[in-house]
Amino acid sequence: MDELSLVKGMTAVLGEEKVVSGAAAMRAYDCDAYTVDRFAPACVVFPEKTNEVQSVVRWCVENSVPFTPRGAGTGLSGGAMPALGGVVVSTKRMTRILEVDAENRCLLAEAGAVNSRVSEAAKPFGLHFAPDPSSQTVSTIGGNINENSGGPHTLKYGVTANHVLQVTLVDPHGEVHVIGSKVSGFPGIDLLGLVVGSEGTVGIVTEAWLKLTPLPQSVYTALASFSTPRAATECVAAIIAEGIIPAALEMMDRNILVALRSAFGLTYHPDTGALLLVECDGHESQACTEMEKCVQLFRRLGALEVTEAHDEQERARLWTARKKGIGAMGRLAPTIVTHDGVIPRSRLPDMLEFVYQVASESGLGVANLFHAGDGNLHPCFYFDDREPGMIDRVFAAGELILEKCLELGGSVTGEHGIGVEKVGVWARHLSAADLALQSAVREVFEVTDLCNPCKVFPDQKGCVEHMRRWRGAAH
Ligand SMILES: Cc1cc2nc3c(=O)[nH]c(=O)nc-3n(C[C@H](O)[C@H](O)[C@H](O)COP(=O)(O)OP(=O)(O)OC[C@H]3O[C@@H](n4cnc5c(N)ncnc54)[C@H](O)[C@@H]3O)c2cc1C
Repeated sequence: MDELSLVKGMTAVLGEEKVVSGAAAMRAYDCDAYTVDRFAPACVVFPEKTNEVQSVVRWCVENSVPFTPRGAGTGLSGGAMPALGGVVVSTKRMTRILEVDAENRCLLAEAGAVNSRVSEAAKPFGLHFAPDPSSQTVSTIGGNINENSGGPHTLKYGVTANHVLQVTLVDPHGEVHVIGSKVSGFPGIDLLGLVVGSEGTVGIVTEAWLKLTPLPQSVYTALASFSTPRAATECVAAIIAEGIIPAALEMMDRNILVALRSAFGLTYHPDTGALLLVECDGHESQACTEMEKCVQLFRRLGALEVTEAHDEQERARLWTARKKGIGAMGRLAPTIVTHDGVIPRSRLPDMLEFVYQVASESGLGVANLFHAGDGNLHPCFYFDDREPGMIDRVFAAGELILEKCLELGGSVTGEHGIGVEKVGVWARHLSAADLALQSAVREVFEVTDLCNPCKVFPDQKGCVEHMRRWRGAAH
């Protein structure tokens, strides 16, 4: 269908004020935070209710038009990029917190509600939404659910899947389903587990009941500098071996510090090769004891400097390196690609050395800031994508790192999803039988390949063309 007819069709379904088209607007929706793969949609629609999402989906199916769900577009694997054009279904106007049930520690939010706003709504009741991706001031509940997002506090509190009770889903044919239950105990096959982490490939989530967690009584935070990344990662293993499960255990290497100095004037011990941020929370005596043990370990294992926060302001200052690190990387180069492999924690020291070696042999800059406690790496390659051949080098380096994660018994993604980025490596990782099972399960929801095409599953209709287009553009 040509673009004009498509825009007319969507306007007839939703009204003019909920449809945006035109080259300038589409430029804003042609990628997510994985900016090396782009394709513009024909239009973006902004439904406000479940039944409007349903009408959009039905129209798309009747007219064989691909559609791509989108929250805030902060995804790091190209999940919200409209690979075959068509319609982007934005949840930007579905941002309400519909109900806080403090007594039962849960909350009903629309899919476009921003993660940190959910916790703000729960705060007066002494509660919060525990999943806290570093993008939490902008990323949405719909995006968090579909990526099964983690965050710095995943080590103790788990990923989004552990905090979702029920979703309302418009399936790829336009049927509305309520999946899961506000109260525990939901018999039958765990369809909720299937929707969480499905990356927008089994429909559009419009609302969700989320589990709320009590705010911890006490929080202790400290930042330790080490002369080398190896020394810092060895300390991570030592903390866990001690039987401590900190709320957060995050690492940043020297190149992140260079970016932070350049962007915000932040300085750390001059010989710092890596920083380790640790946070212990819970009841006062338990959190305090855990932090004392961590600080002892830092000192015993050669920390150059240990800074402990004594109030909320200092705590926020210590977190700055972690929270603003990615943003600061814009100072190093115009383009960043962040990988997300997972390995057993005990292999972190060797794995980081492998990352540095791959970057150096590929002639790429790399900085690491990651969830060390979970063994969830985030090597960020920084480069200028206008340089000929550069994108191919970045892909090749990324594949080497992901293959190494698999060799070490890990996974190709901890929290950023497969998207378009890792379709190939994920498919190679699974056996043919496992891949067939995954595809068969998706086909229970979707046989048209119109709902978020070219994501996660290989060999979908029209996606050869997508691969050719963007790999071709990379040369
Ligand atoms: C600076 C930065 C820091 C980050 N830190 C973390 C981190 O600590 N942990 C982490 O896990 N991730 C992190 N991310 C990645 C990203 O923020 C998360 O994946 C987030 O959950 C995406 O939310 P979003 O609203 O931006 O979703 P989008 O990027 O818009 O979409 C993500 C995927 O979900 C689908 N989707 C979105 N909404 C819906 C819906 N309502 N129904 C169905 N499908 C939908 C999309 O189609 C897409 O496949 C970070 C990203 C950035 C840029």
